[in-house]
Amino acid sequence: MIVFLNGKFLDVKEAKISVFDHGFLYGDGCFETLRTYDGKLFRIEEHIERLKNSAKNLKIDLPWKNEEIIGWMKKTLQKNGFAESRLRITITRGKNDFNFVGAKKPTILIVVSEFIPHPQEIYQKGVSVKILEIERLLPQVKSLNLLPSILGQQIKRENNVFETLFINRVGKITEGTVSNFFIVKNNTLFTSPEKSVLSGITRDVVLELVTELQIPVQEKFFSLQECFAADEAFLTSTVMDIAPVVQIEKKQISNGKVGTITQKLIDNFYHYIQKKND
Ligand code: PLP
Repeated sequence: MIVFLNGKFLDVKEAKISVFDHGFLYGDGCFETLRTYDGKLFRIEEHIERLKNSAKNLKIDLPWKNEEIIGWMKKTLQKNGFAESRLRITITRGKNDFNFVGAKKPTILIVVSEFIPHPQEIYQKGVSVKILEIERLLPQVKSLNLLPSILGQQIKRENNVFETLFINRVGKITEGTVSNFFIVKNNTLFTSPEKSVLSGITRDVVLELVTELQIPVQEKFFSLQECFAADEAFLTSTVMDIAPVVQIEKKQISNGKVGTITQKLIDNFYHYIQKKND
């Protein structure tokens, strides 16, 4: 496996990061996860914009131009040569002994692995989710500080469900450990306001698709009770695409089948990807 670390393409065994790196010591940094469709990185510019926005929010000055970062990403992709890839780009504040501030040179790491899609069954039958009361710090930042997601993923594994949804201290559902969340009620889509969650790249695609389909959408908070009463529900994420949800906390949503609007969005999503890659 070839990785890109601080200006060099290296075998993963040769890639070394300081014990004082802020990413390791403090989770002080940000990242992006991208995937390819037909070998091409999807929405690369949008991911770079979000990465830069995360860094800006953390007051990490990035010394690189977008084109430089994109070039390194594409080259790391090529050097590993998978048919479909998952790419993670990680940036940390860099190192400066044990001082919280004053690090001068950010660390940049790009790792590519093979993209393994979820089984088709989850899109045909839908998935179950659990909930966890916890809030992400700086929700708009895709930060290395992933404790809520780690705890949520543990709950997911212990309960053998597909995803865990976060619920905030006033009882509103925000997003999943690695996904955004939507419900459908009376032919209207609801999803948490953009500022309260990670502004998902897949969430954006869905918002574009529903505009084309003239399906009304409201970005507002909703409770667990409202989820139970929903007609449909689904998750969106780079690694999941659009995943229908048919059970929340062991309660069946509507008739327990993939909803009509959800199915339409899944179909239109793949149609859009195909058209883009033609
Ligand atoms: N929300 C959180 C907390 C995430 O970590 C992710 C992705 O990892 C998402 C939402 C979905 O974002 P995207 O569609 O850009 O993958």
